[in-house]
Amino acid sequence: MSATRGSVAGVDDVERTLEARKRRLYRLGIILAVVVIAVSWLARGPDDPLLTYGYPLVGVALAAFLPLLSREDVPLVRVEIGLFLVAALLILVRLAWHLFLAESLEAQLLVLAGGHYWAFALLMIFGFLMFDRRLGLRMGVGLLATSLLLALAAVAVDAAEGTLAATPVTYLVRVHGFLALLLVLVAGVSSLREQLHRALERSEVLSSRAMTDPLTGLANRWAAEERLEAEIGDAARRRRGVGIALADVDGFKAINDTHGHGSGDEVLGAIAETLDAEVRARDLVARWGGEEFLLVMPETTPQEAAQIAERCRRAIADATPAGVVVTATFGVAGHREGESASALVRRADVALYRGKRTGRDRVEIAEPAVDAKGAAPGS
Ligand code: GH3
Ligand code: MG
Ligand code: MG
Repeated sequence: MSATRGSVAGVDDVERTLEARKRRLYRLGIILAVVVIAVSWLARGPDDPLLTYGYPLVGVALAAFLPLLSREDVPLVRVEIGLFLVAALLILVRLAWHLFLAESLEAQLLVLAGGHYWAFALLMIFGFLMFDRRLGLRMGVGLLATSLLLALAAVAVDAAEGTLAATPVTYLVRVHGFLALLLVLVAGVSSLREQLHRALERSEVLSSRAMTDPLTGLANRWAAEERLEAEIGDAARRRRGVGIALADVDGFKAINDTHGHGSGDEVLGAIAETLDAEVRARDLVARWGGEEFLLVMPETTPQEAAQIAERCRRAIADATPAGVVVTATFGVAGHREGESASALVRRADVALYRGKRTGRDRVEIAEPAVDAKGAAPGS
């Protein structure tokens, strides 16, 4: 319907754009990660079997996500979970390697501090950016719990071997405390983000309701005024004309009296549909008042606007909605340089009034002269 035409991008559109951007970003991230993995592999030391065999595996696993990211039928969240798990596995395996297979815990502290726990923290934050708060929190808690178990097991092994020192234990306690705090903070921020998202959705629904006429589903008078102002501004900048047509149903009081108010409403709904079907995609049809409609036609001369109005007039006369023979009278006006929206509508109204006086069921074009005093006393 016209009410939705030319409207601002809704939350759905924003989400679609965001998803497309995310897919592009992940593609770039994967390519970069594969390059980094390849460089690390080429520059590896001679006795690091994890690098030698593990990294190519991870590189291939990541690259396998590239075709999936191009497929619209694969939900993005599945790819995101897959990417997250691959990254988590890489960090955890590397961590376990340092904790258990390399030398004592103490000797490994710098390596752990320098790399893996940072990667851990980043992955946690990234989880919240990728997923909603609940899934981000679950992934983060899972990651933290696994890391905690690994650290406990490493401490237990050192203790059993009698090589446990106080420094690594303090370090591990502090680092896991820091990761837990980070998890809580990021979950809090993510919760705020979700509240904002819900508020935006609600305000979109409300603003769309405020701009829509509930009986016909057309744009209401506010929306029409806003659009007309915008089109006039646009026309002034681009030197392209705006045409309007004000339509008023003929003898509508009698239709209500004869067929009842409910049938009257049905007739209005049918006329709205007819007008919407007859205008061009860039035109706006609005319910201006009770049984009055306004057509806003950008880039249109008064003659072209009159042709469109004539098409609409004939379509209404041919339609007989709810079994009622109904006609409408149209007043057409083309915007003149420097003229305000209300003055333009007033000229269309004067033309409409002339159409009513001279027999109804017709299209009248407004005089080109601006005649502020000549407004008709309602039509
Ligand atoms: P004409 O325009 O040809 O001069 O005659 P008219 O009978 O249409 O005259 P007028 O414009 O004064 O009457 C408009 C009528 O439309 C009066 C009002 O009761 C009716 N109307 C306004 N809004 C609605 C509505 O939402 N539903 C129905 N059923 N009727 C409405
Ligand atoms: Mg009328
Ligand atoms: Mg009227």
